[in-house]
Amino acid sequence: MNRKAVVLLSGGLDSTLALKMMLEQGLEVLAVNFTSPFCTCTPSKAGCSNAAVKVARENAVPIEVLSKGPEYLRVVEHPRFGVGRGINPCIDCRIFMLSKVRERLGAWEAGFVVTGEVLGQRPMSQHMRAMKLIEKESGLEGLLLRPLCAHLLPPTEPERQGIVDRSKLLDIQGRSRRRQFEVAETLGVEDYLCPAGGCLLTDPAIAARMRDIFAHMPDYTMADVRLVRLGRHFRLNDNLKVVVGRNHAENTVLERVVRSGSSRFFLDHDVPGPTAVAFGPLTGEDRREIGRIVVRFAKKARDGAVPVVCEQDGERVSFLVEDAIPEERLDSYRLHP
Ligand code: SF4
Repeated sequence: MNRKAVVLLSGGLDSTLALKMMLEQGLEVLAVNFTSPFCTCTPSKAGCSNAAVKVARENAVPIEVLSKGPEYLRVVEHPRFGVGRGINPCIDCRIFMLSKVRERLGAWEAGFVVTGEVLGQRPMSQHMRAMKLIEKESGLEGLLLRPLCAHLLPPTEPERQGIVDRSKLLDIQGRSRRRQFEVAETLGVEDYLCPAGGCLLTDPAIAARMRDIFAHMPDYTMADVRLVRLGRHFRLNDNLKVVVGRNHAENTVLERVVRSGSSRFFLDHDVPGPTAVAFGPLTGEDRREIGRIVVRFAKKARDGAVPVVCEQDGERVSFLVEDAIPEERLDSYRLHP
């Protein structure tokens, strides 16, 4: 067996400790980090992948950053092993990532895979049955080492072959992170992001938006999925969804996503207010209804009719809206759990 280990590195505490433990044993290591539109900490300068890159650099370990990509969205849409409290298919997700790593083991000249998983830490994917299932379904039986809880699991092939010294592995179990903090101190790990990890798929509001995409947008793209992170989302009918920006930054992003078949709404005459993008065909009444929604979220109350613009496929229509949409009707359109 090749002595090189591939460590799944999120940039969080547990995977950082797993990486350090392998380095402490003198093993050659390649770190691998997966990105997706659902990471909770992906502002461009402080995201998990940057944290993973930082950890890898600090430890002089090469790192590959892989995007989960559109294939992963099909996993989210059709999970084989259920979902958690949102739409998070944690078991399928782990199998997906580990399968991608297994496929590349030969190319990376690596012999086995290491993760920072802790038995009993996460209710869905880190209990004994799920951990065994993940190992089997990813094709990594005997090749998946979880050093933080290795003593609670059967020895893996690198342990049996003496490549990894099992006596230096740990038996951490459960949700408390006290032991990890102690180990971090011993290994000199001080700076880490997202100690518990984070994923928007566990958020009920994001789950509702994703379910709506799966139900109503059979040809969805990554761009559609990235939009679930921002704005207020409303479904007016089976064919018409509206996203309203909550601030200037979101309005700017929404202006960029307008494409053929979608339309942009905003207040006329440079009146401050949100940008709304409607996805789907519009009747005249739909336009007026979206105008009422835009007026509802305009910051300053105005007397009298408000001019709203609708732009679609290069055409611009301006019309007057008398009233903001009533709250009850707005709530009936809102995509929430
Ligand atoms: S929380 Fe999200 S990223 Fe983590 S395993 Fe579950 S689905 Fe995957």
